[in-house]
Amino acid sequence: MPTAEGAARGAPAGEFHGLAPALAERLRKLGLRGLDDLVLHLPLRYEDETRVFAIAEAPHGEFTQVEGTVVDADVKYRPRRQLVARVCDASGELVVRLIHFYPNQQRQLLPGAPVRLAGEIRAGFFGAEMVHPRIRAVRGGEALPERLTPVYPTTAGLSQAALRQAVARALATCDLSDPLPPALVKRLGLPSCEAAVRLLHDPPPDVRLDALEQRTHPAWQRVKFDELLAQQLSMRMHRRSRDAARAEPLGDGGVLAQRLAASLPFRLTEAQQRVLAEIRADLARAHPMQRLLQGDVGSGKTIVAALAAACAVQDGWQAAVMAPTEILAEQHYARFRGWFEPLGVEVAWLSGSQGAKARREALAAVEQGRAALAVGTHALFQESVSFSRLALAIVDEQHRFGVHQRLALRLKGAGGDALPHQLMMSATPIPRTLAMSFYADLDVSVIDALPPGRKPVVTKVVSDERREAVLARVREACEAGGQAYWVCPLIEESEQLQLKTALDTHAVLAEALPGLEVGLVHGRLSPAEKAAVMAQFQAGRVQVLVATTVIEVGVDVPNAALMVIEHAERMGLSQLHQLRGRVGRGSAESACVLLYQKPLGATARERLRIIHENSDGFEIAREDLRLRGPGELLGARQSGVPMLRFADLVADAALLETARDAAAWLLEHHEPAARAHVERWLGGRDALLRV
Ligand code: ADP
Ligand code: MG
Repeated sequence: MPTAEGAARGAPAGEFHGLAPALAERLRKLGLRGLDDLVLHLPLRYEDETRVFAIAEAPHGEFTQVEGTVVDADVKYRPRRQLVARVCDASGELVVRLIHFYPNQQRQLLPGAPVRLAGEIRAGFFGAEMVHPRIRAVRGGEALPERLTPVYPTTAGLSQAALRQAVARALATCDLSDPLPPALVKRLGLPSCEAAVRLLHDPPPDVRLDALEQRTHPAWQRVKFDELLAQQLSMRMHRRSRDAARAEPLGDGGVLAQRLAASLPFRLTEAQQRVLAEIRADLARAHPMQRLLQGDVGSGKTIVAALAAACAVQDGWQAAVMAPTEILAEQHYARFRGWFEPLGVEVAWLSGSQGAKARREALAAVEQGRAALAVGTHALFQESVSFSRLALAIVDEQHRFGVHQRLALRLKGAGGDALPHQLMMSATPIPRTLAMSFYADLDVSVIDALPPGRKPVVTKVVSDERREAVLARVREACEAGGQAYWVCPLIEESEQLQLKTALDTHAVLAEALPGLEVGLVHGRLSPAEKAAVMAQFQAGRVQVLVATTVIEVGVDVPNAALMVIEHAERMGLSQLHQLRGRVGRGSAESACVLLYQKPLGATARERLRIIHENSDGFEIAREDLRLRGPGELLGARQSGVPMLRFADLVADAALLETARDAAAWLLEHHEPAARAHVERWLGGRDALLRV
């Protein structure tokens, strides 16, 4: 491992010096790249082999160790060939069962042999039994180990014994000196890096096992702190390198922005004006903006994005708007056209499903620069698309895109050495700890107030047994001139079944609501069909829209003030919040009815309680983080964010704050130490993310 100067090393990174090639291969399978990485390959738990129990007193269902004499051992066929032995001590008897076995194990279990067995005891058909225990001959009264035995995460074909040896070698040969300045470590009251990893790999007998297993021990605190620190440092360093890159400085949109604002039927809220000013200040710089625009569902992010786009267009550059679904992209296209075409700005449309001719024309318009704006799905960043002068990329619902897709759009920059500015938007509020860790390299603007005149949405949780009453309510609302969404359940196992449910629901509602027009939109319709249904709903010709969760993002029909969600117990919190955000956009009193089917599981009940009691997206996201953990919340696997291995953003929130402050201090005062620390923890692993 590197020292503070990154110089002296016990072994070069990426290599397993002194280990057999086959072993090295298996270690690579674990994602380890060299002995250095083995130092941080920490035990999941420990086995206590320092004690031996009497058979009658040994605990069941957890790791334990007993000693006794083999009474008998037979190969039996019941039904499969297996070796069954009986072992007894003065207190009792135990059955040992080996379903696969080798001749040497048979020899260990000869009648009369003294053996030590390590493993879990369970109640079996013939009394207490151990299946596949570790068996050790103890003819010479073998001494017990004095230390706890670590158990490591492993992979097929890699035994704990081999891993322990490899780790021991790493601990003996790698440089374990602390990359962090002693003053910092001391101030934080943490053990040294070396003391921490040695203790975790090889805890002394008097250590508190529960503190190790619950990872509250100071040695764990040190490791978790180091991990969080590496993440904070890498984000900050990335930010710095971005500040060294070049982008086109843009003006404030001038006349174009003024005319666009004047054409709106509303005035921007103060919150919108504030975030727009933040965005404009970034765009005016000669370095690429990377700003996340957060705002709850319905807070009015789109017009802010349009005014940002105007900054590029007014100065003769292009802006691209990318959305994760066809429905959402199409709504953006319609809105941007409605706003910009009257001002003489051409808007191109690019989607995966458009015809060859339309696509060719759109490509030409984008390439020749005739279209100053391009709106679309991920089709926007396919290879065939080349912008003539792209200066701003806007990505809506950014967490739904993978990191590669976002980067691809970024690389379609204005050419030369300039990168486009990036504006990302998200209605999934990110709790503070998450924002601090995973989005620490972004600037964040928050629209923290909804446009005026919105009425809060009344949320009702109703058992499916009362759907007749719910239907009556829908009929009433529509007959009074309103409109309603009826959201079909999410069926994860089968898209086919989901489609069938949507068709059935549509048929049932059409029959139950005579005189009303019932529309249907689902994922299997072609984009043109979807657009046609949405247009009819928008125009009020369809009163009830039966929909699958395709309407989750972005759909905006202010006159629809009632939403019914079927099987709400199957949906996640953020999904429910997003869906509910489709109503409450107009001036009418709005309601969202969550239909559920009994019986309710504990988590489902908890989710419905949370969504019923909260309307604030941030509060809901916090609860979501508590229920699901950060990986699920961020969709991190697909977004490519490197997850934390040891630290937990909920349990270790305080440590994260400490790490953030320490990162700032280190970069300012001890930059070589900061770099050495990042190298030790991340190596080249975060390079992909940090273009
Ligand atoms: P989201 O932030 O969820 O993307 P939208 O941009 O779709 O929200 O805006 C939701 C609705 O609010 C749209 O109908 C939009 O025209 C309207 N809106 C946006 N800003 C204002 C405002 N300042 N005053 C009134 N209505 C607004
Ligand atoms: Mg939106």
